[in-house]
Amino acid sequence: MSRIIRLSPAVSQKIAAGEVIERPASAVKELVENSLDAGASEINVEIWAGGKRFIRVTDDGSGMGREDALVCFERHSTSKIRSEEDLEAIATLGFRGEALPSISAVSRLSLKTAEKRGEKGTFIEREGERVLLIQDIGFPPGTSVEVKDLFFNLPARRKFLRSEKSELSSIVKYLTGVCLAFPGVRFSLTHGKREIFHYPAVGSLKERIFQIYGKSTIANLMEVDYQQDEIKIFGFVSAPPSGCYDRRRQIFFVNKRPVKDKLLQAALNQAYDGFLERGRFAEAFLFLSCPHSEVDVNVHPTKAEVRFRSSNTVFSFVFKCMRQALLRHQGIKEIYAAQEKEKKGFRIEEGPPHLQIETDAKEDEMGQELFASLPEKEELFPRVLGQYLRSYIVAETPEEILIIDQHNAHERVLFEKYKEIHKGKKWPQKMVLFPLLVDLTPSQILSMEENQSLLEEAGFRVEAMGGQSYVLREVPDIFQEEEAKDVFLSLLEEIKEEKIEKREEALLATLACRTAVKVGEPLSPDRMKYLVDELFQTPNPSLCPHGRPITVRIERREIEKGLKRR
Ligand code: ADP
Ligand code: MG
Repeated sequence: MSRIIRLSPAVSQKIAAGEVIERPASAVKELVENSLDAGASEINVEIWAGGKRFIRVTDDGSGMGREDALVCFERHSTSKIRSEEDLEAIATLGFRGEALPSISAVSRLSLKTAEKRGEKGTFIEREGERVLLIQDIGFPPGTSVEVKDLFFNLPARRKFLRSEKSELSSIVKYLTGVCLAFPGVRFSLTHGKREIFHYPAVGSLKERIFQIYGKSTIANLMEVDYQQDEIKIFGFVSAPPSGCYDRRRQIFFVNKRPVKDKLLQAALNQAYDGFLERGRFAEAFLFLSCPHSEVDVNVHPTKAEVRFRSSNTVFSFVFKCMRQALLRHQGIKEIYAAQEKEKKGFRIEEGPPHLQIETDAKEDEMGQELFASLPEKEELFPRVLGQYLRSYIVAETPEEILIIDQHNAHERVLFEKYKEIHKGKKWPQKMVLFPLLVDLTPSQILSMEENQSLLEEAGFRVEAMGGQSYVLREVPDIFQEEEAKDVFLSLLEEIKEEKIEKREEALLATLACRTAVKVGEPLSPDRMKYLVDELFQTPNPSLCPHGRPITVRIERREIEKGLKRR
């Protein structure tokens, strides 16, 4: 008896749908991409319950005639490519003809569409594989697709969906990307009765960044615009010394398609190496364009990744452009600084950043607090020898030399302390003298609401000022005020990525990282001793709370071998 059977179309449709449509955000993505491909100048997205109950995407694009409106639900029916050769150069966002059949296979879907004003429109209602109704309607030119009860017939997948807030935040994240890529399109998103955002059409990327991220983000960016042969790069990136605490603010587009791409990320981060303080990352909104034949967009089920034909060329192009922009920026800053110095009529001498055995480092307030009242302990190993490159503490034990990363070490020490304080729920808080204004993006606002109690426990009290403006009224006592603002913003980004049960720890790790001494900061012998002593009393002295190593060891045997004493 044969064991292999051919699955029914209904089952195979569901399987295929599962690949393209993972969650509400994927349905939103496919529908919005169709609207963009249809040349829409206005796209409105309405959802309920994080998109799990209801999604509606309405556009004023080309619309469809009756025949197309019926055919578009058939697998592999598309108006965007005609032949195999067309696959080599895809200029539209869609091309596989899979989205509408997939979404409709796993939901209750209805479509309203019309091509020209005054002409009859079409209404189609479906439930899974079944067509329930086809009707003439009056409808303005454009298309509106309604998706109800996603995965109603795939209970396993439905169960797998995350909370409403979480699904909503994926939708916001995706939409933020397309909003950036298409500043000339008006976008809006509403969740239930609440408007999450609406961005009128604007003439430039800069204005769109301003609409989404607010004034302070724009102020710290510089524009880049380069071209070499047929590759172009355009966008905005951090102007040093600014930068952000968060690598997630690096958004790349290839031919206007938002992509996740390790190669582009690496090129950007390597170019910034040495231009930003450690622990800071470049913020980037970068648009790469190249001939459609140079990039394969057909390598990923949801097209989130692409493959470049000559990835080396792309890498070195991006790296070179970013470096050039940075050097230019630095040049301008240096000229400015030189003029300032001349005006003041003196030169600032900088000490050599070499091994400093004795430093009379200026103790900042925070340091005094943390390093004050050092217990007069008897000399215990490891014993501090000095500081190397103002970044590493060199210490000895009879068996080895230790090279300790001062930032990572301090981070570990503070993390343990903060955990103790937090356990007692008596986190020191302070009122802010001058209210700290912050502009939040829709996705940050959602993260703030979702983690409100956690943030309050950590000492942040926030008040809404209307629109995207908020004010920090109270902040944890361990920060200076401006710094607290930075920390608050990066917390919003960081904790939303974590699983609920890990969020508290992530929050403390972030606080520890922000308050720890920085790389490049001179430390007095006392501070170093304190730090090393504390470090070796923590439960895990070899890894920082983010999992990075803290210490490099050079064993005595190795030293002796190298010196031919063994
Ligand atoms: P693809 O986008 O890969 O072509 P889809 O299943 O997403 O496949 O859509 C099938 C076809 O339906 C599209 O090629 C397009 O012709 C038509 N279509 C879908 N959505 C719209 C829309 N919002 N406006 C106009 N036409 C649309
Ligand atoms: Mg499509």
